[in-house]
Amino acid sequence: MDAVCAVSTAQAQGAISVVRISGKDALIVAGKVFVPLSGKRIEKMTGYSCAYGNIVDKNGETLDDGVITVFREPHSYTGEDTAEISCHGGIYVTERVLRLCCENGAEPADRGEFTKRAFLNGKMSLTQAEAVMDIVSAQGELTLKSARLSREGRLFEEIKAVKARLVTLLGELAAWADYPEEDLPQVEGSAVLETIDECMSVQRRLVENYDKGLMLKKGVPSVIVGKPNVGKSTLLNLLLGFERAIVTDTAGTTRDLLEESVRLGDVTLRLCDTAGLRETDDEVEKIGVELARRRLDESVLVIAVFDGSETPCDEDRALAKSLDKNAVVVINKSDKSSAAAVEEYRRLCAGLAVVEMSAVDGVGRDELEGIIAERFAGFDGEGAALFVNERQKKRLEMSIEALESAREALLSGMTLDAVTVELERSAEQLASLTGERITDSVVDEIFSRFCVGK
Ligand code: GDP
Repeated sequence: MDAVCAVSTAQAQGAISVVRISGKDALIVAGKVFVPLSGKRIEKMTGYSCAYGNIVDKNGETLDDGVITVFREPHSYTGEDTAEISCHGGIYVTERVLRLCCENGAEPADRGEFTKRAFLNGKMSLTQAEAVMDIVSAQGELTLKSARLSREGRLFEEIKAVKARLVTLLGELAAWADYPEEDLPQVEGSAVLETIDECMSVQRRLVENYDKGLMLKKGVPSVIVGKPNVGKSTLLNLLLGFERAIVTDTAGTTRDLLEESVRLGDVTLRLCDTAGLRETDDEVEKIGVELARRRLDESVLVIAVFDGSETPCDEDRALAKSLDKNAVVVINKSDKSSAAAVEEYRRLCAGLAVVEMSAVDGVGRDELEGIIAERFAGFDGEGAALFVNERQKKRLEMSIEALESAREALLSGMTLDAVTVELERSAEQLASLTGERITDSVVDEIFSRFCVGK
């Protein structure tokens, strides 16, 4: 698919942000991300036309509303089909819109890529292109400076260290392969594998940090589950405290699932109280159950509530069985619980974090908060601070992918040459993150000085 995308406005809070998609398939990507309220298809829109509508994710859930402007080649900045989506200017929303474009086939644009395309499509001369760079350089400097600042952090050092390891390994492999007469020690497959695995695990952690950082900014998707009457609503109200948080609908077809923001210590939860997951023939309830199930799948934190004053029934058992390690178990109604029932729930939920509490009088709230806060401790958004844009995250993911291929090649007995190719691919991605990519053409060199989205 030929489409690149980037946030074309400043990476800062503002009234609106513009995400630009350009390329032969730009309107196909835009059509998957943006649904005009008029029902008009983006691909059928003429140049210089706009439409108001919703920005939707793959499940058809609305992320934001906004305006799309369509440009038809050659009458656009790049000379290609272009869509510009104006969404609300929150940093998180904008990132999400950008990510949606990527998920639907667009590649994150490199620095100056739009202007480079404009140049390649004959829209402007090189001198003109450089003049554009001058115009944006004031902002570019700032962007660069903030990028540089965050790059001085620990995470940047980690990337550099991983890259250095790969480069050393590549050096060893090359020396051994290219200079057989030197009688160098053979590079052992096991040592190569060890380096690959170690590099991969560092990078995976970095990607995870990015996601967690972003998630913490917006709130951890969470859900309260349990059969009716165990005290889910009471627990939700307890967690909400006096400050009733903003109630937002979860975007979707029905308004059954209400989401509340709950701040526990440093962590914000986006918490849903679900109707439960019972098998049912009732059509309306079925929709609720389906929503709850989907929410459960998306949730990073699951709070499962049981009634400690009653022995577990089949529904409780089924719920306990379905929980994974992300779950926190609340055995509620400790003010009137039975020791035998509590014992039984603890047995069913062995290995999970369990809190006995009374949602009506607040006993156990601190313990629950402590467990949740601890679970998300240490993610102060530092990851997000470094990998401020999708492009960088994508590079890291591509680097991991290359390492996976290298690993596979090694384990399936392919030659070290084949492994080397993949390792080089991985190192190249990292080098581009640390700004050490050696570009092979003057054009690349010039445009690489632009900021992303230009
Ligand atoms: P939900 O259906 O799971 O949302 O349950 P509710 O929150 O509506 O609570 C059901 C009933 O249990 C209500 O009468 C609550 O007052 C009561 N309840 C909730 N938590 C506790 C508790 O900790 N102790 C006692 N004794 N009753 C509770």
